[in-house]
Amino acid sequence: MAFDFATASRIRFGEGTAREVAGAAASLGRRSLVVTGRSAGRFAALLNGPRFAVPGEPTIDLIRQGLALAREHRCDVVVSIGGGSAIDTGKALAALLANSGDPLDYLEVIGRGLPLENPSAAFIAVPTTAGTGSEVTRNAVLASPEHRVKASLRSATMLPRLAVVDPELAYDLPPAITASTGLDALTQLIEPYVSSRANPMTDLYCVEGIRAAAPALPHAFLNGRDAPARRAMAWASLLGGLALANAGLGAVHGFAAPIGGMFPAPHGAVCAAILPQATAVNVRALRSRAPQSPALSRYDEVARLLTGRPHATASDAVTFVADLCRRLEIPSLAAYGIGPSDISTLAEKAARSSSMQANPIVLLSEELREILTLALPATTN
Ligand SMILES: [Zn+2]
Repeated sequence: MAFDFATASRIRFGEGTAREVAGAAASLGRRSLVVTGRSAGRFAALLNGPRFAVPGEPTIDLIRQGLALAREHRCDVVVSIGGGSAIDTGKALAALLANSGDPLDYLEVIGRGLPLENPSAAFIAVPTTAGTGSEVTRNAVLASPEHRVKASLRSATMLPRLAVVDPELAYDLPPAITASTGLDALTQLIEPYVSSRANPMTDLYCVEGIRAAAPALPHAFLNGRDAPARRAMAWASLLGGLALANAGLGAVHGFAAPIGGMFPAPHGAVCAAILPQATAVNVRALRSRAPQSPALSRYDEVARLLTGRPHATASDAVTFVADLCRRLEIPSLAAYGIGPSDISTLAEKAARSSSMQANPIVLLSEELREILTLALPATTN
């Protein structure tokens, strides 16, 4: 047994912990850049400092603007309060504040991919959705609209100095965001558990997280102020982040990367739309080509954790996630302008994506196209 495990330097979890953020930021530096989602004022009371609002998933240009603002105000700490977009933006800004040059110098795939020489400026991540787990991951996903791709800035030194997970921050999320981010969180627990890179430490997080998320998500969707449900989802999302950062993902995220690069579709919504189909095709492929694979018994275990039934098998996991997506009114991929003519390109790109490399079985190109074809039409009726 051998594995590597890295995470944020410190994690604070619990209702009310967001009130500690100002004090924590003051202890790390003189001036904080506060990175928020679209509505910069929403958590204004929590923290002072120049504000940088992130209107959508971050682009390279947005990072250049944020960097100029942070330098102008001589910020030495970055605090992100928001969803995955705000956290990834802050994480990238903290890394680039400490390293000269342009974001493209350090980006994988479309940039020069140079290593980040210096450790990031102090970075505090405060998630307000229970979805991405980005508060404990070491990469920031940035979009390049002109290349129509997403690529990561990645370094172990980008792990946040502090992650503050306060379930109360998600109380006012609209149901549709609760649904898509919650299903992303669930995907980020299932994929690392069946991943070819799973390890005994990430297994613990996945088992606990799936068990917590499955019953809680419908409650959080129906009543945003259901405190136990919000707590369970914040916990599950954190566990998913811990797991994916150390065990990788799989086919769902393998598709999410090229789809997010080519279409204006939110990451969580894409993952939610693909999870049932990718699970079904993975299970079928394992049964037919690798019936002895340990991933199959892991899918059986996923089914037991999802359903709470001791004799559930992999097929029950497929049924469970499909039913859950219907109950949570997850739109199909067609809602984001993806059509049948995009399937071949997306399947080819997905086959090469980094997440796909951790999928428990190498999927054939017709299986990749099948997943997308099944995820295209409306799944809500
Ligand atoms: Zn995800």
